[in-house]
Amino acid sequence: MQKIATVCPYCGCGCGLYVTVENGKATNVEYMSEHPVNKGALCPKGNAALEVINHPDRLLYPMRKRRGTWIKISWDKAFNSIVSNFRKIRDAQGPDTLGFISSAKCTNEENYSLQKLARMLGTNNIDHCARLCHASTLTGLTATLGRGAMTNPIPDLANSDCIFIIGSNFAENHPMVSGWVWDAKDKGAKIIVVDPRYSPTAWMSDIFLEIKPGTDIALINGMIHYIIKENLTNKDFIRKRTSGFEQIVTSIEKYTLPLAEDITGIPQDKIRQVARIYAKAKRGAIIFCMGITQHTCGSDNVIALANLALVCGQVGRVGTGVFPLRGQDNVQGACDMGALPDFLPGYIRVNDEAGRAEIAQKWGWENLPKRPGLTVVEMINAAAEGRIRGMYIMGENPLVSAPNTQHVQEALKNLDFLVVQDIFLNETTELADVILPAACWAEKEGTVTATDRSVQWRPKIVAPPGEAKTDLDIICEIAERLGLGFNCQNAEEVLREVSDVIPSYAGITPEQVKGRIGGITWPCPFLDNPGTSVLHTESFGTPDSLGHMIPVEYQFPAEQPNDKYPLTLTTGRVAMDYNTGAMTRKATPLLRRDPGLFVEINPKDVENLNIENDDEVEISTKRGKIKARAVITETIIPGVVFIPFHFPGANVLTIDALDPQAKIPEFKVCACKINKK
Ligand code: SF4
Repeated sequence: MQKIATVCPYCGCGCGLYVTVENGKATNVEYMSEHPVNKGALCPKGNAALEVINHPDRLLYPMRKRRGTWIKISWDKAFNSIVSNFRKIRDAQGPDTLGFISSAKCTNEENYSLQKLARMLGTNNIDHCARLCHASTLTGLTATLGRGAMTNPIPDLANSDCIFIIGSNFAENHPMVSGWVWDAKDKGAKIIVVDPRYSPTAWMSDIFLEIKPGTDIALINGMIHYIIKENLTNKDFIRKRTSGFEQIVTSIEKYTLPLAEDITGIPQDKIRQVARIYAKAKRGAIIFCMGITQHTCGSDNVIALANLALVCGQVGRVGTGVFPLRGQDNVQGACDMGALPDFLPGYIRVNDEAGRAEIAQKWGWENLPKRPGLTVVEMINAAAEGRIRGMYIMGENPLVSAPNTQHVQEALKNLDFLVVQDIFLNETTELADVILPAACWAEKEGTVTATDRSVQWRPKIVAPPGEAKTDLDIICEIAERLGLGFNCQNAEEVLREVSDVIPSYAGITPEQVKGRIGGITWPCPFLDNPGTSVLHTESFGTPDSLGHMIPVEYQFPAEQPNDKYPLTLTTGRVAMDYNTGAMTRKATPLLRRDPGLFVEINPKDVENLNIENDDEVEISTKRGKIKARAVITETIIPGVVFIPFHFPGANVLTIDALDPQAKIPEFKVCACKINKK
C-alpha cells in the first residue's frame, strides 16, 4: 500500500490530501495535517475527490459520430481526422478561423502546451473559463496593482483585524477560507459581508450589508468619499506609493452617502460604519469573488476595490491585501500560462513586439500572431457568424457554462469541425465531431497554481481507464502530426520550459516543487528562491512601481427589470456542486446532498403568485425559460431571485452582455419573471 501526497482537484484553495493506493487502485483519501492551507481538513468535494476515478461513465476510447450514433475509433484515426480538418480549415480560410478553449481543470503544462499549439498554428484564439469567472480580476488588478493575482496567502487572513467580503460566498464555494476568517474573528477581527443574499458566509459577519445586485461601485465609491471627507486616508502611503489620488478625490465628490444609499439600498449609517472600520483597521483585507467580477462593469468593480485598498494603505503588508477567490483548481495557472487571447505566457501582451520575439525565439518559431485573439464568448459569437469554422475544446462544457445557452448551441452546431476532449460525456460533447477520452486529475502529473499563487505538483497516482490519454500527451501528438516540433515528452520537461519562459516561475522546476507540501508561491525569480507570499511590499508590479488609483463610475447593468420582466435574476454556486457539475454529479456522496435546480425568491415577490415552497415554477427571461423548485426565503432581498448555475438550463436565462475590458459576461444581473407552472 502506498500513500501519495497530492492536491484537491476542485476549487482554487489548493488543499493538500493523501491518496492511498492498493494494487494500482486509489482506495482512500487521508488528511494532510501539515498542509499550510487546509491543515488536514477537507470540504465535501475534497472528500469525494476519488469518485471520478474509474467511474463507470468515464470515456474510454476516441469516438466519432456516424449517422447520429457514436462509434469507437482508433487514436490514429482520431488524430488524423483532427489534423486534416484543422489543416484544411486553416489553409483554406486562415488560422483565425480556428478557436481553442483551454481548461482551468488541466495542469499548467497542459494549458501552456495548448496555447503554444494554437499560437504556432497562427492564431491567438485561445481562452479558458477564467473569461467566465475572473477575467475582470486580471484586468482590474493589473491596471491598479500591476499583477492580476491575490496579494497574500489564504492563511494570512487570520492576521487581519478587518475583513471586507463582497460578492463571495466562500463558506460554500471555498470552504477552507472560512477557517482562516473564523480564526481572525476569534482574535477580534471585524467581519463585514456585502451580498444580495444572506448566504452561509454572511452567518459569520459582524455587519451584513444587503446590496442590490450590480451596485457595488456606488457602495465602494461612497465608502471612499466618506474616508476622504473624514480624513481617514493613509496619507503617507498615498504620497509615497500611489498615483491618481487627486483624480479620485474629484471623481468621488458626487458619491455622497445619500446617493450611495439610494443606489445600493444600504442605509447610510451602515456605509459610514464599515468605511470607518476598514479605514481605521491596522490590517484590513478585502475578499471578493464572482459577485464582483461577473458584471458588465466587472473590471471597474475590481478597480474600485483596489482604489479602496490603496486609499487606506491596506496592501503590501501581512494581514492586508485583496483576495480574489478563483473557482477552479488551476484558474490562476491557466492565466499565468497564457491560455488567454491577449497574453502570451507570463502576461506578455501579444502585441508587445520584443516580448513576443523573445518567446518566439525560445520556441524556435517565427511569426507568432500579434493580433489579439477572441475570448470564449467572442469565439462563440464568431462561430455563430461563420467566422470560426473549427474548434478544439479541452475540459470545458460551454453549453452549460457560457451565457445564453441557445445561442451557444446554434453557434457550435454551425462549426465545420468540433473536437471535445474530456473525461465524461457532457452537453458539449453531444455536438462534437470527435470526442477524445482524457485522463482525470489523479491519472496524470503536473503542476497547478492555487488562487493564492502557490504552485504545487500533482503526481500521477493511478493509470487512466481504457485507452484514455493525458491531455498533455494528446496535445503533443497533435502538435507533432501538425509538424510543429513540440518539445513535450512529459510534464517535467514542459515545466522546465515554463520556468525558462515565465520569469515568475523561473525557480519553479520539477526538482524544486515535487514533493514540496504547499508548493512554491510565485513570483519565484530564481532557483532556491523561497517564493513570495505577500506581493507589493516595496513596489507594485506596474511600470512605474506605483499603485494606480483609477476613477470609476457607477453604471447600470445591461438589462434592468421592466414591466414584462419585473425581477432581477442573479446566479451563483452551492456547496455540493462545482462548475457545470460534470465532475460533482458523478460523485455519489455529493449527489445525495445535491439540491438540484432551485430558485430562491423573497416572500414579498410571491404575494399574488400563488407560489409555495417546493412548487415547480417557471423562470423566464428574454432569452428563454426553465423550470425550477421554488425556495421562498427572506435570505434574498425583495425584487431579486437567485439560481445556482451548475445545472444545464440555468444559462438559458443569462445575458451575454460583456464587460468591455475583460469581456466577461454579466451572469450576475438580468431581468426575469416567475410564474407558477
Ligand atoms: Fe478541495 Fe477547495 Fe474543498 Fe479544499 S476547499 S477540499 S481545495 S474543494
